[in-house]
Amino acid sequence: MSTAIVVGAGIGGVTAAVALQRCGWQVTVLERAPELGEVGAGISVWPSAVAVLEELGVKGVEKASAVSKPAGMRKPDGRWVVAAADLGVEIPVMIHRAQLHDLITAEFGPAVTVRTGYDVTTITQDDTGVTINDDLRADLVVAADGIRSTIRTTLYPAYEGPRYSGYTAYRGIADVDIDDGGGETWGRGQLFGFVPLIDGRYYWYATANQPAGARSEPTAFRTWHDPIPKLLAGSETVLQNDIYDLTLPLVPFVQGRVVLLGDAAHAMTPNLGRGACSAIEDAGALARHLGESTDLITALARYDAERRPATTKLVKRSRGLGRVAQVENPVVCAIRNGLFTLGGKLVSLRKPKSKVKQSRP
Ligand SMILES: Cc1cc2nc3c(=O)[nH]c(=O)nc-3n(C[C@H](O)[C@H](O)[C@H](O)COP(=O)(O)OP(=O)(O)OC[C@H]3O[C@@H](n4cnc5c(N)ncnc54)[C@H](O)[C@@H]3O)c2cc1C
Repeated sequence: MSTAIVVGAGIGGVTAAVALQRCGWQVTVLERAPELGEVGAGISVWPSAVAVLEELGVKGVEKASAVSKPAGMRKPDGRWVVAAADLGVEIPVMIHRAQLHDLITAEFGPAVTVRTGYDVTTITQDDTGVTINDDLRADLVVAADGIRSTIRTTLYPAYEGPRYSGYTAYRGIADVDIDDGGGETWGRGQLFGFVPLIDGRYYWYATANQPAGARSEPTAFRTWHDPIPKLLAGSETVLQNDIYDLTLPLVPFVQGRVVLLGDAAHAMTPNLGRGACSAIEDAGALARHLGESTDLITALARYDAERRPATTKLVKRSRGLGRVAQVENPVVCAIRNGLFTLGGKLVSLRKPKSKVKQSRP
């Protein structure tokens, strides 16, 4: 039986393990953290990623998710820039990250072995296989070890890697009694978004321009429109992450028998909510190409040819949207908001409501 090592048990790594298991591979997942799991926040899952998960046998994502409503955009004082109208666009479902991770790992069968507390520090390969830490060997290694991937750095030491976006992100889950469909509020160099989860709680996220590495609290949003102050007050924990993406052009996703997947390959800013979805789609594509070709190297080349251009576009689009969202100049903000209002009106005129694509009926 062919053997694979997946390095990293984030959403990308665990989906890759399920995908390889489905192709008949024996899989070892190596995770540095002492136990498997995901951070306490929500995540948007787009229909294309839900479809991949279902194809891989991961059921129940939609059942455990809230169907987002088309989200509107407000100003900090609560006035609408684009009202929450049915704009005929594709929308994601919203799920708790830990729940998504659990649904995926629930599909691990006897072909998947997990070793937590295992830090991968070295990787070498020859024509017959790949060796990790002079300890474990496999036919294929999938590097799903995140934006600061040790494996990517080993394979491509000259690559610049992560690039600071100029803003930090806060995230929380609020247990509050409010009645609001959610949406985003854009200020000057600051943004706040919130969405209902299926259990009645709300997932919220916010961004603020600041230097890399500065610790801060989302206090500025306490003066924004309702229900934002309530959401902040109703959250026990607030996560803060500086936002980085990967320098373009991205490096090739394949070198010999080693494959980069997820944030290790194409970390993007969260503005499109597509990073984890892309990792899931990577795993689906890898399994498809391995299934369609008897030659490993050919299958991996096809994986790179499909996924690198597709994710490069998303890294670019996400970065561009982040720049627009984080603008501070008041004149530019006013022009931006005016364009959004006009764009919203045009879209709602052009797209009949019946064409809305929902990921579940
Ligand atoms: C604020 C914010 C909001 C986001 N919202 C969304 C969203 O709504 N929708 C969406 O699709 N995406 C979203 N994303 C992006 C998404 O979180 C990431 O793209 C996704 O989690 C990446 O998954 P991954 O498995 O590739 O990497 P990671 O989740 O980073 O996992 C990497 C794993 O590898 C392990 N590891 C690292 N190095 C080693 C080593 N040397 N040895 C062993 N193990 C190692 C780590 O411990 C970790 O468990 C968001 C990101 C942020 C920051």
